[in-house]
Order: sequence, then structure tokens, then C-alpha cells
Amino acid sequence: MGGAKTDIILLNESDIRCDGRKIDELRKIIIKAGVLQNANGSSYIEFGNNKILVGVFGPRDVHPKHLANTNTGILRCRYHMSPFSVDERKNPAPSRREIEISKVIKEALEPSVILKKFPRTVVDIFIEVLQADGGSRCAALNAASVALADAGIPMRDLVSACAAGKIANSIVLDVNNEEDQFGQADMPVGYMPNLEKITLIQLDGILTHNEYATCIDVAIQGCKTIYQIQKKALIDKFFQGDIK
Ligand code: ADP
Repeated sequence: MGGAKTDIILLNESDIRCDGRKIDELRKIIIKAGVLQNANGSSYIEFGNNKILVGVFGPRDVHPKHLANTNTGILRCRYHMSPFSVDERKNPAPSRREIEISKVIKEALEPSVILKKFPRTVVDIFIEVLQADGGSRCAALNAASVALADAGIPMRDLVSACAAGKIANSIVLDVNNEEDQFGQADMPVGYMPNLEKITLIQLDGILTHNEYATCIDVAIQGCKTIYQIQKKALIDKFFQGDIK
């Protein structure tokens, strides 16, 4: 982030980004719910060039048993990048980054799940990144929220996620891999659109107070658009397109 020198033009004189988008434009997003036969809930997302599959199991008995909580259910999350998800083979063993992102996604989903409804049990979320292209934690969070809903887990709201950031001194929506590497800031945001509550904020880079506030607003607008795509994926699964 920030320091690397590159010839890449992140924003041209017409305010068009390196992948052809405008500054307030999301990448192309496709979400499908219920794509796996053997999981209780599942989803698949394409978020630009990110391709991610999520399987959810539970609520089910907790193993090891000492992790069970008599007052509440618990969430567990594993974010994993497949060896072929990036340009050089990724070691399949969990890296520090994957362990951190697993924790971040779990904590971003927890406020949306009514955990008290299933004490002593666990809901496991398995995230497989098949192809990564920057912003994979946000893409994974969108897919995981749809997979939880697909599994029938009681929820207060969906969590929608997208990043805003700063490149070439401009605030932009949905930072891609090049912008993440060579830009000035990247701020992933998770948001519950009906409750109007933020469940995730991270910031890599430096922003002024005003830029910080603008980034949050821009990211929330992106989340609201993504929410409609998540909702449509669930409607398409459960009503097979009958209800629009
Ligand atoms: P996010 O994917 O949420 O933006 P990071 O900012 O940590 O998370 O990573 C940005 C991007 O860097 C990833 O989406 C991926 O394209 C790339 N990346 C991450 N880990 C590796 C790796 N081990 N090898 C090559 N590229 C990687």
C-alpha cells in the first residue's frame, strides 16, 4: 500500500480507473444462493474477478465440547484461499492473513445473527476463495451472509460489504487489486442496511478526517447496492423468480 512505485495509471484525466470504471462504480457482482447440495446453506459470488464459494453447517453440536456456551450459540469461520487463487501457488496451510480475515469476517457477521436462539450449538462458515483479485474479504462477507440466510439461520439483517479507498488523491468505491497495491488507502466496510449499523471497518493507509467520512459514506452506498443483489439471490433461490 502506498509506498510502491509503479507505472500503472490508477486514474486518468477523465477520472476513469485502471479497470475502466468510474470512481463511484462497483465491479460486476453475481451472487447465487444454495449452490451446494451437502451444506445446510451455501452461496457463490463473483465480485469482479474474485470467485468465492461458501458453505454453512449448523446449528449443530460443538466439538470440542468445552467451546459450547449454554447461554448462546457461537459462530466459527474459516476463510481459505485455494492454491490456485493467486498468480503464484499459495501454500494451502492457513497463513496469518487467512487467520486474521477469518476472525474479521466472523466478528462482522456476529451482530447480524440471533445467536441466543440456538444455545450450546455452533454455526460453521467455510469460505473457499477460488480466485482472488483484491477485496476478497468483502466479497466473502457478502457471500457468507447470503449462505447463512440460505441455511435458515435466524438473522436481524444481512451484512453487505464493500471497500472505499483513495487513489491518485480521489476517493473511489470498491478498490481492486492494483488500487489496493499502489493506491493510498483501502477501507473495507461491512454494513447492515436495514438496521443502518456498521459491523466492520478496517483501514489500510492514511486519510484526513474529511476523506475518512467520505469513504464511509461511499462504502455504505456501495453496500446498499450490493444488498439488493444479495436479496435477489435469496429470492431467486426460494421463489424461483416468482417474486420480483
Ligand atoms: P482483500 O482480498 O480482502 O483485499 P488483502 O488486502 O490482504 O485482502 O489482499 C489483497 C489481495 O492481494 C487479495 O485479494 C489477493 O488478490 C492478493 N493476495 C493475497 N494474498 C496473496 C498471496 N499469498 N499471493 C498473491 N496474492 C495475494
